[in-house]
Parts: sequence; structure tokens; C-alpha cells
Amino acid sequence: MNKLGIYVQVPFCQTKCTYCNFHTGVVSSARFAPYADAVCREIREHRELLRAAGIGWGSGESRVTSGEQAGTDFVVDTVYMGGGTPSLLDPGHLQNILDAIRATFSTELAEVTLEADPETVEAGKAAGWVRAGINRVSFGLQSFVDEELVAAGRMHRRADIYRAVPILREAGISNISFDLIAGLPRQTRESWRRSIEELVALAPEHVSVYLLEVDEGSRLGKELLAGGGRYSAGAVPSEDEMAEFYELAQAELRAAGYHHYEISNWAKPGFESRHNLKYWRREAYMGFGAGAHSFSGSERWANAHDAAEYVKAMESGRMPMEQHEKLTAESALEEELFLGLRQLDGIDLAQIEREYGVSLAGRFDPLASAGFVERAGGVVRLASDRLAVCNEVFVELMR
Ligand code: SF4
Repeated sequence: MNKLGIYVQVPFCQTKCTYCNFHTGVVSSARFAPYADAVCREIREHRELLRAAGIGWGSGESRVTSGEQAGTDFVVDTVYMGGGTPSLLDPGHLQNILDAIRATFSTELAEVTLEADPETVEAGKAAGWVRAGINRVSFGLQSFVDEELVAAGRMHRRADIYRAVPILREAGISNISFDLIAGLPRQTRESWRRSIEELVALAPEHVSVYLLEVDEGSRLGKELLAGGGRYSAGAVPSEDEMAEFYELAQAELRAAGYHHYEISNWAKPGFESRHNLKYWRREAYMGFGAGAHSFSGSERWANAHDAAEYVKAMESGRMPMEQHEKLTAESALEEELFLGLRQLDGIDLAQIEREYGVSLAGRFDPLASAGFVERAGGVVRLASDRLAVCNEVFVELMR
């Protein structure tokens, strides 16, 4: 049976980080219960909602390229509750959402992830998460340095990390992921090294390292564009420094026994994110909640971003869809190359050529000559010393 991932979007946060312009809001907690109810309804009624919206899910349409069926024979093996800050919700809301998934789909839940911010973790909540079936927590730590956390507008402090991790371990969470951001305002080579060393000492099973991307619409982005100094805009590390931070993380995490399996992701053996691998491998996933994205193998669609609009639509039994795209073979191939190259194992050119009926001969020659990619037999992968500048590779590849 085909595996299916389910993503649940919870678009609420306690504050707005200075660099963030995601579609998330700081709202009254009174809005959490109606939102969770709307997500449960969308899950339970997804077949009717999709049919009414003209989505070919379960209609037996072929996956663009390989002829694999996007049929009804799916078993859900991964759930990812992301945001926003889904750990803000009451554990009972999360339990209801997971119960709705179990009642609606065939499930063999191997990995159920909750994104959490350290300051939201309490023993009672953690016990509720485990009772609901959550077995993995992804922590948005971003840094172990208070000065950087303050500058970025984060709610938690270093001490919250050290308080939260034992609570989770005692509750029985044996799979923890930490996120760090390279390039936060006020970050220096020394402070970055400190964050990496403290992270390694806490021995999470999984690590994600992202380079800071300042959205132009965020508070920090607007300040940078205006040349001002608020939000520590004058203390944002340069691109070269960020690349250096990334390379330091690569070296330290490798030395600590982490396997680098995707540009931004490292894992102890066997702890690679099963859910996120589905995105990079173009496997099917279904998203529920405001702004959630779905992929059937041949179509992509997304819900409306506005949480209030989403709840209203669900209460009146409508699919709150904002985008819907049927993939062409050409766009599917582009995705295959772009997403495949994010994985450090690289892509098997012969297999892709067979699946898509195309020749890729010569497509990677300029990148190989420039040292951006390496070829070994029929496999092409990003050069390990160029991962920090992978965006340049992708731009070149899609020309
Ligand atoms: S917690 Fe995440 S989603 Fe929320 S404001 Fe901060 S960066 Fe954005």
C-alpha cells in the first residue's frame, strides 16, 4: 500500500519574530478551539470537499511521470503538526485532530511530529502529547544565545531549552529535533560555535540548520531596506559569514556522528525525518488547516492562508482552496531535479530519464565544470563544499 503523509498547519504564534513574514497570527486563545474543530471537519470530510473542488484525489489518475497510481489505497504513516506554534494548542485539541485522522484514514503511524517552542513545554502538556500519539518533537530553538534570541524577537531564552528537554525525555519523547538559524542578528563566529556545541551536548536525534532568510515584508526586512538600525538590523551577519557558520555546523555535526542527508538536515542513524523525506521524494501528502499544501502525485493545491476565512469556509462546508495546479510533465521534471538535489545522496539520472522519457545528457555539464555538482556513475549530487551556496546551483539548473 502507498504511504501517505499528513501535514496539519497551526498558524498561531505568541509573538511575531522580527525576521518572519509567514502567514501566522498572534490571536486570542479563544480562537484555538474553533480552529481545531475546523481542521477535524476538513479531515473527516476531505473526500467530499476535494470532489466538490475538482481535485482528482483517489480518482486513479496517474502520477505525472511514472505511472504510479495516486489511488485510494493509502496508509498514513507520518503526521507533522507545524506552524506557527502548534504546541500553543491544548493537548486535547491535538488529540482530537489525531483521532480524526485515525478515524478517517488507514493508519500505521510511525512518526507523529509536533513543532514546539521551548517556553510552551510543561510536564502536563508533554504527557498529553504522548497520550495523543505524538512521538517526535521538533524544537524551534534557533540559538542558545539570549542576546540573539532577544534581537530576533523570540519568546524563549536559553534556560527554557534546558528546562524543556528533560521534561520531554521524561514524558517519553525519544525523538527530538532542534532547529538552529545561522545568520541571526548579533550572531558572531564565537556565539555560533557556542550554539553548535551546546546543541551537540544535548544530543538531539535530529538537527536542522537554516540560513536566515529575511522576508522583505517582515519587520527586520523593512528595516534593512530602509537602512535603519531597529531590530539589530545593523548586526546581521554577511552572506559570507553565514556560509562560514553553515560549514562549521557541517564539520561539528559530522564529528558528532550526525548523518547529513538533506541540505538543511542532519540525523543520528535511523532518525531521518520520514515525513519531510516525502516532500523531497515527491511522495503524496495531504495538508489540513489554513495555508496547508497538498500533493497527490499529479496535482498540488493549497488552502486559504487566512485562519478566520478558513474556519468560516469549513463551518459552511466549503473547501477553502486558494491554489490548484495540475502538473505538466515538464514542471514535474523540474521538481524532481530541484527536490532530488536537496538530498545529499543525489539523483539517479538514468532512472529519471526512464521515468520522464527525456535525455538529461549535458544538462549538468556547466555545473560540474564549475565544481557545483559531482558525478559518480549515473548519480549527480551537490558538491559537499558548495552546499552553502546551493541556491546559485538551483538558479543555474532551472535556466
Ligand atoms: S515562531 Fe516561527 S512562525 Fe511564529 S513568528 Fe516566529 S518564525 Fe514566524
